[in-house]
Amino acid sequence: MRELDADIVVVGLGAVGSHAVWRLALRGKRVLGLDRYRPGHVHGSSHGHTRLFRVACREHPGLVPVAQRSLQLWRELEVSSGRPLLDVTGGVMIGPPDSPLVTGSLEAGRRHDLAVSTMDSAELRERFPQHAGLADEDVGVWDPLAGIVRPEAGVRAAVGAATDAGADVPGPATVTAVEPVGGGVLVHTGSGTVAARQAVLAAGPWLGTFAPGLPLRPIRTPMTWFAARDGTDGAAFGLERLAIFIRQLADGTRMWGHGAVDGLDAKVGPSDDPAYRETDPDAVDRDISPADHALVSDLVRRALPGLDPRPSRITTCLVTRTPDEQFLVGRPGGDPRLILAGGCSGHAFKHAPGLGEAIAQLACGEPTYTDLAFVHPDRFA
Ligand SMILES: Cc1cc2nc3c(=O)[nH]c(=O)nc-3n(C[C@H](O)[C@H](O)[C@H](O)COP(=O)(O)OP(=O)(O)OC[C@H]3O[C@@H](n4cnc5c(N)ncnc54)[C@H](O)[C@@H]3O)c2cc1C
Repeated sequence: MRELDADIVVVGLGAVGSHAVWRLALRGKRVLGLDRYRPGHVHGSSHGHTRLFRVACREHPGLVPVAQRSLQLWRELEVSSGRPLLDVTGGVMIGPPDSPLVTGSLEAGRRHDLAVSTMDSAELRERFPQHAGLADEDVGVWDPLAGIVRPEAGVRAAVGAATDAGADVPGPATVTAVEPVGGGVLVHTGSGTVAARQAVLAAGPWLGTFAPGLPLRPIRTPMTWFAARDGTDGAAFGLERLAIFIRQLADGTRMWGHGAVDGLDAKVGPSDDPAYRETDPDAVDRDISPADHALVSDLVRRALPGLDPRPSRITTCLVTRTPDEQFLVGRPGGDPRLILAGGCSGHAFKHAPGLGEAIAQLACGEPTYTDLAFVHPDRFA
């Protein structure tokens, strides 16, 4: 192995990679961060101005400590960058009492002693009159630490904090291959090769090109914003009054959203949509057709009738799905030279700082602050 150019190379500076570089640089590591685009770009999974932040994570109780660590680190990053990144407004998960959305959120709260509370349908109607068609049996789980986090600003802030802490982020560079050799890795780019002890592969929708054996499916996922209808109280659809929500309707369809913020209208999306399709992340169809918002417009019409169901804005993004809808972080096959981080499954942005911290701990041989066995990539081996 030739002389090392860096201790660790992070490939991909989106949500997860930008935070990994930051946390590694703070540990005094010689870290090189490479991305084919500039931080905060619109080609991967981390654009669209907002993401939901939740702590009572219905997806897995093991995510609660990651969200809690992320909350601390988002605040740290706000101080160092001087930018608002996370607005905590509280948020509500609405559905039948036996729906996984409700039971999962309550279970996360119970296991981690979170201050979540429940509301019956009468309270829901009073607090959130924007939501129409609630069933009498519906309940709401209130997560007081939920809110919105800003993806482009968050990525830029993490890269900025990383370079302030000494990371080398030289600007756009496409990594063509990562080759484990002896006790390290060779990272090949269009303009040369870098030798390092370890590589963190955080390539988002492109992760499959570096880990072809993993069941990762990049999915084209449009994002949609909706203005208040003429004649309705527009303020009722601002973030202050329409807090972040995930809601399961009587027919089982799930939707998510939040009120208007930062000059953009209310954002609403379906949790799944027959129009979502697997795509090559290098050949995403950016043209918008009516099929891209047919389902969400119908959901808005039924569940939030104070909004105009014609989107005021629509743009495409990418989710990378795994078979169990859980992301992956860890060393494939225990390889001390590689850490994989990806498979976002549509809910990883909020956790990016906490995942970055865990990746830095793994890379530095420290115990991780929480058990991440449930997201280990070898579960798909
Ligand atoms: C519509 C939508 C809604 C979502 N809602 C939420 C939500 O409410 N809450 C939440 O927490 N999460 C949400 N998510 C998920 C969240 O946005 C993702 O989990 C997160 O952005 C994934 O980050 P990443 O770092 O894995 O990928 P990315 O941010 O895409 O980063 C990957 C990076 O790798 C770079 N790269 C790839 N290949 C190479 C290469 N060969 N060489 C150099 N660089 C390379 C790319 O340029 C990119 O910058 C949502 C996602 C979508 C699409």
